Amino acid sequence: MYMNETPITVTSPLLPDLADFNDMLKQIWDSRWITNNGSFHKQLESALCEYLKVPYVSLFTNGTLPLITALQALRITGEVITTPYSFVATTHALWWNGIRPVFVDIDWNTGCIDPNKIEAAITSKTTAIMPVHVYGKPCDTEAIQTIADKYGLKVIYDAAHAFGVEVDGKSVLHAGDMSTLSFHATKVFNTIEGGAMVMHDEQTKKRIDYLKNFGFAGETEVIAPGINSKMDEVRSAYGLLNLKQVDTAIEARHQVAIKYREALRNVEGIEFWDDLPGVKHNYSYFPIFVHQKTYGMSRDELYYKMKEQGVMGRRYFYPLISDFTTYRGLPSATKDNLPVATEMAREVICLPMHHALTEEDVQRVLECIIR
Ligand SMILES: *Cc1c(COP(=O)(O)O)cnc(C)c1O
Repeated sequence: MYMNETPITVTSPLLPDLADFNDMLKQIWDSRWITNNGSFHKQLESALCEYLKVPYVSLFTNGTLPLITALQALRITGEVITTPYSFVATTHALWWNGIRPVFVDIDWNTGCIDPNKIEAAITSKTTAIMPVHVYGKPCDTEAIQTIADKYGLKVIYDAAHAFGVEVDGKSVLHAGDMSTLSFHATKVFNTIEGGAMVMHDEQTKKRIDYLKNFGFAGETEVIAPGINSKMDEVRSAYGLLNLKQVDTAIEARHQVAIKYREALRNVEGIEFWDDLPGVKHNYSYFPIFVHQKTYGMSRDELYYKMKEQGVMGRRYFYPLISDFTTYRGLPSATKDNLPVATEMAREVICLPMHHALTEEDVQRVLECIIR
C-alpha cells in the first residue's frame, strides 16, 4: 500500500523553468561577468526592494552570513537576548561573534519571543535583541521596540521565514535596525543557497555592501575586516525567475493550509494556528501541536506513524537550540526558564507544505492524523 507510494516530503524547492534559466545562463556566459555586483545581482536587489516594499536590500550568499554581518556592522558585543525556538543559525551567528546568547521564552500563540519576558533577562552587558519571526508569524515588533528604546538596545530580526509577510499592508522587514532573509532551497523564495539583509538607510546599505566584499570600499581601500558573502550572477538570475512565480507558489501553499485547517478543526488534541487578522501570511510552514492526553498518541508516535506511511513531517523546532550541547550549559538554557518553548518543541510537527502538493497528497497527510 503506502510503502510503494512516493514519499510526501515536508518541502519541495520552487524551481524556475529550465529553458528560461538557460536563456539567462547564456547572457551570463556572453557577458563573462559571473560575480561581484553584476547585472543580475543589481536587478535582483531592486526587484526584491519592490516586491518586499523596502528601500534597501543587500544580497548574500546564504541566510546565516547576513546575521553574522549585521552583528558586526552594529558592533554588538556582550549579551544578546534571543529565542531558543528557531533554527540553530540564529544562535550560531551570536557565537561566531563571541556574543553570549541569553534565551527568553516564547509566546504559545505565535512561537515568537515573548516580549513580556524580555526585560527580566536584560543585564548591564545586554546590547541587542535578536528575535525570529518564526514560521513567518510576525513578532510583536512594537512591544520589542519599546523595550529596546528604553534600554538603548539594537534589534536584529532573523526574518528567514518571513519573506513577503506584511502587517496592515506594511512589510515586517521595516521593524528593528536590520532584518535578514534566507533564500535556501527549503524556503518560500529560494536562490538554491542565498540570503539578504534589509536595512533602512543608504549609508548602512553601503557599509554592508563593503562588509560582504572583504570590507573593500575601492580598489585599494579596506574600511573594516569584512567577509566574503557575495551572491553570484547564476543564483541572482535564478532568483529573478523564481520571484516571478513566488506569488503563485504562496497561493498554492495557502490553499493547502485551508484544506489542512478545514479537516483538522474538529480533531481533538490537534492544535494549529489560524491566520492573524491584518497579516499577509506566506504559508511557509504548517505546524501542528499534538496534545498527547486528548489526542491519545504522543507527537513522536504520530511522527513515526506518518513516516511509516511515507508522510515526511518534520519536528521543527526540536530539539530547542538551548538543548544542543554547545548551548545547554548557559544559565538561560534551563527548562524552568523556557517552559513554553519546551512544550512547543515536544508537541510540534510541521506537516508537508509546499507549492506542488496535490489534492491526493493532502488527503494522504490528513488520513495519517485523523482516525
Ligand atoms: C534557514 C534559516 C536560517 C539560515 O539560513 P541559510 O540560508 O540556510 O544559511 C537562519 N534562521 C532561520 C530561522 C532559518 O530558518
